[in-house]
Amino acid sequence: MSFMGMLPYLVALFLVALVFVIYRARRKVKATEESSAETSYLRGLDFLIYDKRDLAIRELTSATLKNTDDVSAYISLGNLHREQGNIDRAIRIHESVSIRPNLSRDAKVRALYSLGLDYVRGGLLDRARSAFRSAIKEDPTRIESYESLERVYEELKDWKRAYHCQLAVDKAAKKKSSRLLAYLLTEMALAEALQNSRTKEAIELLQKAKQTDPTCISVLMYLGDVYISQGDFKKAEQAWEHAVEQFPKLAFLLFDRLRQVYLKQDAVQNIKAIYNVVLAKNPDDINARKSLGDYYFDTGQLDKAEEEYSKIIEISSGSTLGYQKLGMVLLKEGRKDEALDVYQRLASLPELKVVYYYCGKCGFKDTTIHWRCPQCHEWDTFVQEIERRRVPAGQKRKRADAPKEAH
Ligand SMILES: [Zn+2]
Repeated sequence: MSFMGMLPYLVALFLVALVFVIYRARRKVKATEESSAETSYLRGLDFLIYDKRDLAIRELTSATLKNTDDVSAYISLGNLHREQGNIDRAIRIHESVSIRPNLSRDAKVRALYSLGLDYVRGGLLDRARSAFRSAIKEDPTRIESYESLERVYEELKDWKRAYHCQLAVDKAAKKKSSRLLAYLLTEMALAEALQNSRTKEAIELLQKAKQTDPTCISVLMYLGDVYISQGDFKKAEQAWEHAVEQFPKLAFLLFDRLRQVYLKQDAVQNIKAIYNVVLAKNPDDINARKSLGDYYFDTGQLDKAEEEYSKIIEISSGSTLGYQKLGMVLLKEGRKDEALDVYQRLASLPELKVVYYYCGKCGFKDTTIHWRCPQCHEWDTFVQEIERRRVPAGQKRKRADAPKEAH
């Protein structure tokens, strides 16, 4: 074959070679880009481990610019923006990932879940609910989606759905969150009783809550409240007396309720037995001592009141309460010198003890107990604490005794 005859073949061969070379070169560039993107992604994760969030954001942004298919980098970047408080940006990133075509199921679920968390953080609870529901639709086996959805329902005060969602969580995780379920049933009952005056349903729900977790004092407390709203004092009394027996440490929560219900039945003296039930189990229970002292004071038995208030000072010498109450009794009896002495001892206390309740999870403090923390929204995290506080020097010393300020 002549050269001219071979020319078309040579041209064709040349073109094939050229296409191959270009393809290899492009693949190499793409591989280099992908490898560079991967390096940025890994560096971003490294920065995250060392809590260098700004640097992590820079590297992850770089990873997404180098390889726009890197879904993991986008999701992580969005999460970081959320943690930094850039909610709008986090939402934009996760939204754009979640609607990408040809996304793997795992990536889609992660994007939707992250988007739900963004909405929660931004206070857009309806949208958060939709995002978590979509994540569950994509992958019904992922427990986190149910857990987050349950919390959204709680925030929306949709207690019924929260309850059923928690049942789904428990089923998937093969556990029983009895206390939480009891609280959710209690909230459902309160909503029924307070908003719709459907006391029968409320009582059924509270009975169910009691069966779900018999160690939950709030159930018995509210059960009594519902009975009272029906005018059934006897049943309220039974529920609360049972609660005092069962939970003496928290019995003080029921003292006022029980006193009221006895008052309505002209049997206020019964409250004394309640305080004594608690004191028999714990003689150092200051709440019960104070209430018993108050009972004696109100009924004119001042010597007995004095005895109880003196015991408070013995139990907790730093407590202002015992001194205040004792001073009050002494004044009432006309023992002015002794009262003055008590008030002087009160004034010279080295420190004040203030009773607080605080959330064991987030540290939120309050003077009243909460079943669900108002700050971190966790259930059953409140514990009692006697906080020691130094009395500010200026309040305790006379002006002349105060150290002179340097000029
Ligand atoms: Zn908390």
